[in-house]
Amino acid sequence: MEINAMYENLGISKKVLDFGKKIEDSLKDRFQEIDENAEYNQMKVIKAMQDNRVSDIHFAATTGYGYNDLGRDTLEDVYASVFHTESALVRPNLISGTHALSIALSGNLRPGDELLSPAGKPYDTLEEVIGIRESTGSLKEYGVIYRQVDLLPNGTFDYESIKKAINERTKLVTIQRSKGYDTRPTFSVSQIGELIAFVKEIKPDVICMVDNCYGEFVERMEPSDVGADMIVGSLIKNPGGGLAPIGGYIAGKTECIDKASYRLTAPGLGKEVGASLGLNQAFYQGLFLSPTVVAGALKGAVFAANVYEKLGFQVVPNGSESRHDIIQAVTFGNPEGVIAFCQGIQAAAPVDSFVSPEPWDMPGYDAPVIMAAGAFVQGSSIELSADGPIKPPYAVYFQGGLTWYHAKLGILMSLQKLLDAGLVQI
Ligand SMILES: *Cc1c(COP(=O)(O)O)cnc(C)c1O
Repeated sequence: MEINAMYENLGISKKVLDFGKKIEDSLKDRFQEIDENAEYNQMKVIKAMQDNRVSDIHFAATTGYGYNDLGRDTLEDVYASVFHTESALVRPNLISGTHALSIALSGNLRPGDELLSPAGKPYDTLEEVIGIRESTGSLKEYGVIYRQVDLLPNGTFDYESIKKAINERTKLVTIQRSKGYDTRPTFSVSQIGELIAFVKEIKPDVICMVDNCYGEFVERMEPSDVGADMIVGSLIKNPGGGLAPIGGYIAGKTECIDKASYRLTAPGLGKEVGASLGLNQAFYQGLFLSPTVVAGALKGAVFAANVYEKLGFQVVPNGSESRHDIIQAVTFGNPEGVIAFCQGIQAAAPVDSFVSPEPWDMPGYDAPVIMAAGAFVQGSSIELSADGPIKPPYAVYFQGGLTWYHAKLGILMSLQKLLDAGLVQI
């Protein structure tokens, strides 16, 4: 059977295929650049594994307290090598990105300290962690003060106001690399480096933490290469490579990581405990695959940007900009577009392709959210997924794809659904 017939079997019309083909043909140079970065990062990961003498004994399961869990300790050393940090905490009991960020913050802040976000409002779920929205157990309840400096209208840092906001109580600066559910640009590693240098010049001992979710392996450098004291992320996003079934990481200065570990387990216990329960092999293997998986996801994001830009929708990043995370935002301007797009992504999935996603009130978010995810790991967003809060500007956030071919199918299917619903014309 011809390849077109394979797509038609899956429900993609000739019209959509032809439209997609033209766009794909125009992206050869972009894709080559993505592949070259993946190659670089693949070598980085292999070198880190070799330098730390990773061996099959590290894949053995531990139970109970998990004392002397060699696999866990070596995995943390591998992460530290990949990210060029002194130390790392990489655990299945960091149950999500939000949890890892919450542990990094609460482990390193004390009552009376001030937390500063110089890059505007942080990710939705952090609002409750910090206490921006009233929440039981927030940092605010523990006497941590929060301050925020919004980005300038053009999406860059407001250095003047940041300088004014830093004071004797400022203990930790949190910088979110990815746009999250926002339409601001994602920051490049070098922009983050400039911001960190600026902050450190004013106050050298301030801890600079970067929420690195969705950014790992997109560039050749990470925020830890440009002065971040801690970088934090989720293993069901980029660095888990689609194989990690759970987990989060915090990598950075030993002092910061130790403090986080005392919060994750208990004062006095720290990194010494925490059984890995047989998950180590998936963590190692997922990290090994991550650079190429991220490359597939990036190709999907670039393809989606170009498809929807061509159709006249606002896309962030735009079709030709350089990329600093794997997320693609497409603004439809109405709920129907968001819903049809997500239903297309769902219909292209290997798992649960037969269900149709609907908006619902997800914990941690302030508007109904629609999520499309036909994933092997529940909620995994390195797998092909799309979500969007049902509120203006009605933007959908698309990310992931364990392979480029699957990402491509998902985007073509989303376009098919929009076409079928009469929401676009091609
Ligand atoms: C996903 C994400 C988080 C939260 O991670 P969860 O694993 O969903 O809890 C935090 N910050 C950013 C920028 C994210 O993309």
